[in-house]
Amino acid sequence: MSNMHITGKEISYLYVCQRKLWLFHHGIRPELENVNVQIGMHIHETTFTREEKDIPLGDVGVIDWASFKNGYIHETKKGKTPGKGDDAQVRYYLWWLNENGIQISEARIHYPKIKQTKTVLWDNEAKSRTLKDMEDCRKVINTEAPPSLHEYPYCKSCAYMEICFS
Ligand code: SF4
Repeated sequence: MSNMHITGKEISYLYVCQRKLWLFHHGIRPELENVNVQIGMHIHETTFTREEKDIPLGDVGVIDWASFKNGYIHETKKGKTPGKGDDAQVRYYLWWLNENGIQISEARIHYPKIKQTKTVLWDNEAKSRTLKDMEDCRKVINTEAPPSLHEYPYCKSCAYMEICFS
């Protein structure tokens, strides 16, 4: 049985690839995964110059920047394609914050490479979706073996490519 702890990154993998979610959660980390994380950190570091950066949310993740008095958080993404996984990840952070007594109503996802910003609101629907995401994540993680291989268009740029297709 797997540890039930879920991170924001894992919630996003639920939408990207459930096999990736399983592999990541079970500690299988190809070197490229670490490089991608470093690129993401670099983009984040060069995008904002505010003081309130890198705010840890317990064990679930780290938010890039927050304006607590105005009720919103920021997340920066290195990709060029906004996706459902990004939305789910910030909804999870919003859930965690509100569960811990920090009333935050909005997340702004920044895509510096395409100069776009997306807003995700925290409301009852967002809460329901987050609880469902957490349940679905646990179901994937708790299987004995990784979900079977499915080829996606983005597999060729996935850090797990060699593990999945060699
Ligand atoms: S290579 Fe494709 S199937 Fe394998 S983890 Fe990545 S996205 Fe999923």
